Amino acid sequence: MGNPEAPGVAATTMRMLARGALRRCPRCGAGHLFHRWFRLVDQCPSCGYTFAREDGFFLGAFVINFGVTIAGLAAFMGVLIAVLASGGSDRAIALVAVGAAAEALVVPIFFYPFSKTLWTAIDLTMHRGEPWAAFRPGGISRT
Ligand SMILES: [Zn+2]
Repeated sequence: MGNPEAPGVAATTMRMLARGALRRCPRCGAGHLFHRWFRLVDQCPSCGYTFAREDGFFLGAFVINFGVTIAGLAAFMGVLIAVLASGGSDRAIALVAVGAAAEALVVPIFFYPFSKTLWTAIDLTMHRGEPWAAFRPGGISRT
């Protein structure tokens, strides 16, 4: 994906968040950042941005992934409350419980790469003024 921004100019916040939500480099929009599903490359193959800028950098990604999973479980909790309030059968309650358990297993695995690029986008928006955050075609990211 091309970069419509001029060199040295950061993308808009919404553009960076949208790129992160699509598993793309928030800084330049490049894709193919993951080996298989879980392994994020160290640097963007297009702009050279270093994703893990420091030890523990992806703690924010963990928090995002955890929050999305908990939000899904909260939705199942709401469904369970509705089932119980309407005098639902044991089968309906068991179905909701199985759905919640499946959600708790599948969502964090599915959302894992998205949480990393989304967190990178959030980090970039928070450090918008830093020289290393601005896009430079083919540039080397400085940490
Ligand atoms: Zn990039």
